[in-house]
Amino acid sequence: MKLGIVGLPNVGKSTLFNALTAAKAEAENYPFCTIEPNVGIVPVPDERLDLLARLINPEKITPATIEFYDIAGLVRGASKGEGLGNKFLSHIREVESLIHVVRCFEDDNITHVEGKIDPIHDIEIINLELMLSDLEIIDNRLQKVEKLAKGNKAYSKEFELLNRLKKAIEEGKPLRSLNLEYDEINIIKNYGLLSLKPVLYACNIGEEDLLDVGKNKYVDLVEEYAKKEESQVVVFSAKIEAEISQLSKEEKEIFLSELGLKESGLDRLVKASYDLLGLMSFLTAGPKEVRAWTIKKGTKAPQAAGKIHSDMEKGFIRAEVINYKDLLECGGMAKAKEKGLVRLEGKDYIIQDGDVVLFRFNV
Ligand code: GDP
Repeated sequence: MKLGIVGLPNVGKSTLFNALTAAKAEAENYPFCTIEPNVGIVPVPDERLDLLARLINPEKITPATIEFYDIAGLVRGASKGEGLGNKFLSHIREVESLIHVVRCFEDDNITHVEGKIDPIHDIEIINLELMLSDLEIIDNRLQKVEKLAKGNKAYSKEFELLNRLKKAIEEGKPLRSLNLEYDEINIIKNYGLLSLKPVLYACNIGEEDLLDVGKNKYVDLVEEYAKKEESQVVVFSAKIEAEISQLSKEEKEIFLSELGLKESGLDRLVKASYDLLGLMSFLTAGPKEVRAWTIKKGTKAPQAAGKIHSDMEKGFIRAEVINYKDLLECGGMAKAKEKGLVRLEGKDYIIQDGDVVLFRFNV
């Protein structure tokens, strides 16, 4: 699962990316790494793992992960090949969702490429480049489909859809705001349309505003904008996150509690990204490993088992399932079974967030 970090130059993308990848230090035992200079694999914070580990004392704890791509260099004119425009747009094509970093901090020492702090204007520049790229794709496709559409049901449906998308873009609406139906998405899913990708707006505010986000006049504007296209907003300070990412887990907790915060902005951002991708975790808990496994929301038990091993999916018999809270309350699996809290679920069971699962399967 891949997310791209986009935004105008000098808004704090690299600072955020570095903080995200430095946070790997938290999980010293695990091979989270920056695989390429601009790609980082980041653990998804999950307090449930720590709670279960306290109960079970496993040899290791393995959180779920997501991949972040730092897609720098998106500027006005990218869709016309300005800067390294096409290259960056093709990077965006490869990710599933976008984190759009928006500059909401004032600092005269940091040049703003557009000359002034105006988050909505900034957002619109990037969105416009994505939409212009989409328009080109749509126009090309329309030319092909127009002839084929005569007398052909599938093509005429596509023709109608493409015209609708074109109209939306001409009205300045990113495709993601259209709430397309599943079968409509299916028609266009291989065209690499960029403004269709879900976006999380990340407001980078000054550290002086962190304790009273309401003071920052720009955040409200971004929230209002995001609401119109049903996108989410996360507020954070890249500079503070960069500092936090250098701290040990204990130091981080002290630092945050001194600021009166429960969670770092990064933790909130990573969790929201996970959600944006339509993902959730189920858990496995044994003496060797307590682990979170990533699945799409709505995944059934056999397919979830397949995330662990394809044999488990093929030979699936049943899943033994307990909510992690019940397991914690019982103080262990034996007691939970005694109390009848471990359920036996079959192949149609949809895995729920926070399920601790043991799969039974034939080999
Ligand atoms: P990018 O071009 O979007 O990747 O931006 P960078 O992360 O390189 O940041 C550009 C400059 O802005 C750097 O000098 C950062 O130190 C600075 N910067 C980033 N975030 C903040 C912030 O929250 N407050 C202030 N004052 N400066 C920041």
